Amino acid sequence: MNPLALIRPNIAQLTPYSSAREEYTGTTGIFLDANEFPEGKYNRYPDPEAKAVQSVLAAQIGCAENQLILGNGSDEIIDLVQRAFGIPGTDSIIVCPPTYGMYEVYAKINNLECIRIPLTGDFQLDIPQILAQKAKILYLCSPNNPTGNELENIEILLQNFQGIVFLDEAYIDFSPSNSKNELLQNYPNLIIAQTLSKAKGLAGLRMGMGIAHPEIIAVLKKIKPPYNISQTNQELALQALQNWDATAIETLVKERDKLVEGLKKNPSVRRIFPSVTNFILVEMTEADRIYAFLTGRNLIVRNRSKDVPNTLRITVGTPQENELLLKTLAEFQ
Ligand SMILES: *Cc1c(COP(=O)(O)O)cnc(C)c1O
Repeated sequence: MNPLALIRPNIAQLTPYSSAREEYTGTTGIFLDANEFPEGKYNRYPDPEAKAVQSVLAAQIGCAENQLILGNGSDEIIDLVQRAFGIPGTDSIIVCPPTYGMYEVYAKINNLECIRIPLTGDFQLDIPQILAQKAKILYLCSPNNPTGNELENIEILLQNFQGIVFLDEAYIDFSPSNSKNELLQNYPNLIIAQTLSKAKGLAGLRMGMGIAHPEIIAVLKKIKPPYNISQTNQELALQALQNWDATAIETLVKERDKLVEGLKKNPSVRRIFPSVTNFILVEMTEADRIYAFLTGRNLIVRNRSKDVPNTLRITVGTPQENELLLKTLAEFQ
């Protein structure tokens, strides 16, 4: 399948805005080309592609630089892909709930129909139902939020789905599995999203990545806002990535497993869904009341009962925070 044939005609024909920083890419000289103020620390427009960060990330991910686009969070990548491929009022996307809510929110904003094909009882993909639909983009989240598990059989969908497969790997660094980015070689219709917001601990910076075939990346870059990553964010992300301590993830994963053990002993807990992420979906005896009780004690978890009956989603915190949660939960009656 040729994914370029799926691009909206107006986007395929678009001549992008050419910014001053794209037309002249040298770093020295007297810059009188961008109507910037001549002095100051942040007086200059930033690199439109955030190339310094991009090159560090490409090396970490193991992809070519032209397979990568940086976004203002991976949420921006979700939106860019819809705007590149989805014709408003005509095209559809598929989501597999319970899953991350932003795919559907952006579909509403972009006036795309959202087809919901729920996960099966064990939170896996309903492949026949998905393949029975006609849609431009299929959103898959693995490991999935809020259920915490990995999705199986993604490659079957890559082989058979006649559209873009958007694979959200926001939690992949917590999981024992590797990113599926090697599949990009065989499936040009695959777009992978990752983020610095979760395992890298940089949610406040707003930086996410789209990884795809170079020709898809070129289209996404054409429609992104020219300066979507600020100078400060580029600098801070570069620093943080260069000083990145990978053992922090192992520590967090051990804490998660400890938290699971603690939760198992709690009488208000009915079922703990297995997690390869930094959160745990827990079925409670009375999720709504327990949620209110915890909030009253200044412990904020997420009530996911509308998506999975009677559940709370608990993010793994520091050892002290997790202990306090367990202690407080034990006081619920
Ligand atoms: C948190 C989250 C994101 C958002 O990431 P940002 O990079 O902060 O925009 C994307 N997808 C999933 C599944 C998430 O849970």
